[in-house]
Amino acid sequence: MKACIPIRCNTACTYVKGGFPYHWDLNVYRGCTHDCKYCYARYSHRYLQEKGEFAGDIFVKTNIAEALERQLRNPKWDKSVINLGGVTDSYQEAEAVEKQMPAILRLMIRYNNPIIISTKSDLILRDFDLIDELSQKTYVNIASTVTTANEDLQRKLEPGAVSPKRRFMMLKEFGKTKASTGVHMMPLLPYLTDGEGNLNGVFSQAKDAGVDYLLPGLLYLRGETKQVFYQFLQKEYPNLIAEYRKLYQNGGLKEYRKPLYEKLGIIREKYQVFADYKSRLNREVFGKNEPVQLSLFD
Ligand code: SF4
Repeated sequence: MKACIPIRCNTACTYVKGGFPYHWDLNVYRGCTHDCKYCYARYSHRYLQEKGEFAGDIFVKTNIAEALERQLRNPKWDKSVINLGGVTDSYQEAEAVEKQMPAILRLMIRYNNPIIISTKSDLILRDFDLIDELSQKTYVNIASTVTTANEDLQRKLEPGAVSPKRRFMMLKEFGKTKASTGVHMMPLLPYLTDGEGNLNGVFSQAKDAGVDYLLPGLLYLRGETKQVFYQFLQKEYPNLIAEYRKLYQNGGLKEYRKPLYEKLGIIREKYQVFADYKSRLNREVFGKNEPVQLSLFD
C-alpha cells in the first residue's frame, strides 16, 4: 500500500440532506482501497486538488480529531448522530497505520455522542473496547455491507475488503456490546448476487451472527460508477452485459424488482431477520416509541 497523502480539514462533520434519520457524516479518508466495483463514492475524488486514483491515492485528514472536538464542544451542537464513514471506509487498510479512529472514538465517549459505523473491515475490532464503552453511554450502530456469501465473487467485486466470513465474525463480536448491529446487503447485483443460494447464504450468516437487522438495496448505475461497473462486467462476466443493458439502459429494472422483492420477503420470513434499523435509533436517540413503517428495502 502507498503511504497516505496528508490533508487538513476545516470541519470534521458535514451536513448531508436525505431521507435518513441522521444527517452528519464524518470521513477520515478520501479514497478507499477496498476498491468495490459498484462504489458510489468514486465521484468524491473529483473535488480534490491533487486528484489521483480513488482506490490507490488515499488522503488522510490528519487534524480530524482536533476539528471534531471543536464541533462537539460548541454549545450549539445538539449531540446529533454522526455517521462515521458515510463516503469512505474508516477502517480501510490505511487506518492500521494512521490510527485516527481511536482519538475520534475517545471524543465521542467524552461528549457522549451517538454514532453509526459501517465498515467492510474487521480492523474495527482493534477499537472494540472504546466502542463497547461508548455503547454503554449512548446509541452506537455497527454495520457491515455484505453483498455476497461467495468468496470468489467477493474477491473480484471488493478486492481490498476482508471476506464475508470475517465481516460476520466481527458483527458477532459487537453483538456482545450494547451496540446494535446490522448487515447492508447493498447493492444487490442482478444475476450475480440475487439467486436463492446467495440470499439464503447471507441471511443465514446474518442470523448466526445475531444481527439486529438486514437492509437490502438495489444497484444503481450512473456516472463513474456505471463506467467502472461495466468494465468489471466486461472483464469478469461479459455474458451479462446484454442483460444489464436491458435493465439499466432499457428500463427493465421495474419489472425485475417485483419478483426479487417477493423472493426476499419469503427468505426474510424464513430467517426472521428484518429491515428495521429505525425503531431502536428513534427510541434511543429521539425518545420515540412508535413503531416504524418499513418497506422491504427501507
Ligand atoms: S468500502 Fe465503500 S467507499 Fe470503499 S470502495 Fe467499497 S463502496 Fe466504496
